[in-house]
Amino acid sequence: MYKNFKNIDKVVFGRGSFSAMEGILAEKRNENNRFFLFVVDNYFKGKDLEQRIPAGPQDIVRFIDVDPHEPTTEQIDTLRDEVIAEKGIPAGVIGIGGGSIMDIAKAVSLMFTNEGSSTLYQGLNLIKKPGIYHLGVPTISGTGAEVSMTAVLTGPVKKLGLKCDWTVFNQVILDSELAATVPVDKWLYTGMDTYIHSIEAECGTLNNIYSLAYGDQALKLCRDVYVGPNAGQNPENDDKLMVASMMGGLSLTYSEVGVCHALSYGLSKILGEKHCYANCLAFQHLEDYYGDAVNELKSMLVKHNVTLPQGLSKNWSDEQITAMAEVAYNLPHMWNHAIGADWKEKVTIDTIKKLYERL
Ligand code: NAD
Ligand code: ZN
Repeated sequence: MYKNFKNIDKVVFGRGSFSAMEGILAEKRNENNRFFLFVVDNYFKGKDLEQRIPAGPQDIVRFIDVDPHEPTTEQIDTLRDEVIAEKGIPAGVIGIGGGSIMDIAKAVSLMFTNEGSSTLYQGLNLIKKPGIYHLGVPTISGTGAEVSMTAVLTGPVKKLGLKCDWTVFNQVILDSELAATVPVDKWLYTGMDTYIHSIEAECGTLNNIYSLAYGDQALKLCRDVYVGPNAGQNPENDDKLMVASMMGGLSLTYSEVGVCHALSYGLSKILGEKHCYANCLAFQHLEDYYGDAVNELKSMLVKHNVTLPQGLSKNWSDEQITAMAEVAYNLPHMWNHAIGADWKEKVTIDTIKKLYERL
């Protein structure tokens, strides 16, 4: 009945704080086979940050292109198997990038100690043993993956996280200087994830003061960043959005997401749309669930000249819409929160298909 949540063990916050990483890692270096695995967003290959990664000759630095698809179970299993074959079990995993990289770092840290394929562990508390030390450095703000207790993976059957206390990072470094280069469209889509987390956490049966306090603060910061007098990409707002991301993540952790995230999971699983973009596609049509927040989100996009496509469903087959509706329907915790315990009396596959047809 009462949720009992694990939080990140340690957090460093501040512009330039990336440089604290070397000292933080020093005391962990002698664990396991005495090397670190760095997983880094491919965007940073050849950029200044590459030179600042505190990797020694014994360490492995893997640059990963996150754009073709969201992290998959197969990708995690392969990465784990290759690293073990090359050097054994690392002292720790360091993820430097967005939600995709952070989920890869979290998932692989668990899979170094849990046997078999990660598909076996998609769900709540299925992981058997604690993973290895893992440290996250977000470079784009909004998903809350830096603070959440899940590592979302797309597998052959489902898109579902490895969710347990051990998934949570041991250490996070919040250095918003790293987010300065995010292009404006990604800055909006990913930032809107924290906006939507906060709205959805509030609009449902699991809403509570603890969750709401984080959500309200995340929303206030999002408003400053996207529509306030000082709106736009600048150092102060990069700081604000990085904190908003974390607070939106905590808000949903202590409550739940809802209709938009259920639809978004269908869009990602069946059509391969990325999470934050898929959320925006869905949220713009959910006035009857989320009221004025829908107009507010649209105004944030308009202010920064980002337009979302309309009429997409005209090009989808009935099979695709049905498949997406089935993915969304099979997220009962989200409907239960958004609609109530009797949600099955109000929401059917057909209801969800009609929601997709709005897109
Ligand atoms: P991402 O990691 O997929 O990256 C988005 C894009 O931004 C990529 O092109 C990347 O190269 C680029 N990028 C990142 N940092 C940059 C920088 N500093 N400068 C320039 N470009 C940069 O994006 P995301 O939106 O943060 O994450 C989405 C993923 O997070 C999805 O896979 C989703 O399933 C997952 N997610 C996880 C949770 C969780 O709780 N674990 C919550 C929400 C979403
Ligand atoms: Zn989300």
